[in-house]
Amino acid sequence: GTFPQLRSRIFKIIVIGDSGVGKTCLTYRLWTGRFPEKTEATIGVDFREKVIEIEGEKIKIQLWDTAGQERFRKSMVQHYYRNAHAVFFVYDVTNAASFHSLPIWMEECRRHSRGQEVPRILIGNKRDLRSSARVGAELARKFAEAHRMPFFETSAKSPQGYDCMETILITVAQGLK
Ligand code: GDP
Ligand code: MG
Repeated sequence: GTFPQLRSRIFKIIVIGDSGVGKTCLTYRLWTGRFPEKTEATIGVDFREKVIEIEGEKIKIQLWDTAGQERFRKSMVQHYYRNAHAVFFVYDVTNAASFHSLPIWMEECRRHSRGQEVPRILIGNKRDLRSSARVGAELARKFAEAHRMPFFETSAKSPQGYDCMETILITVAQGLK
């Protein structure tokens, strides 16, 4: 056709979780294919777009990276939950506190999605790191099952982790089509 861009569909995915879990690195990795050399603290909301092709159809994925700091978030929160197609809840597998924060983030999501069932995906990031205080994958899987979310452990830092993220995107986009 004359306006092929009009046929591409847009999916808005929000990336949520405590500060420091790797939301910006994951978003950057998915967007550019690389791990950022340095990241600055996210201020408010920032989004990145990536086009993926599924069964010959171009799908534009908007990844909304968010800041954990309350003072930035209050005014933004409504804006970024609006018309979201999916939510990524991210925690850091070496930081138990970030795992225990998940119910708070999920409650906020519920409040702002106004009764709509937004697909949610649980992501344990930094799987490349070793730690004695690691959040067990079994525990996380049980939590994800209880809340009917797919669960993935990933790494923004390692190429394998990135492949996993790409798989997640494709899975999500296929589910939304
Ligand atoms: P955000 O606050 O959730 O956006 O977290 P950032 O993306 O800014 O990452 C916080 C810190 O964790 C940075 O120092 C990153 O380099 C580091 N980081 C992020 N993802 C990974 C990962 O998968 N593996 C490792 N080892 N470090 C990571
Ligand atoms: Mg950030």
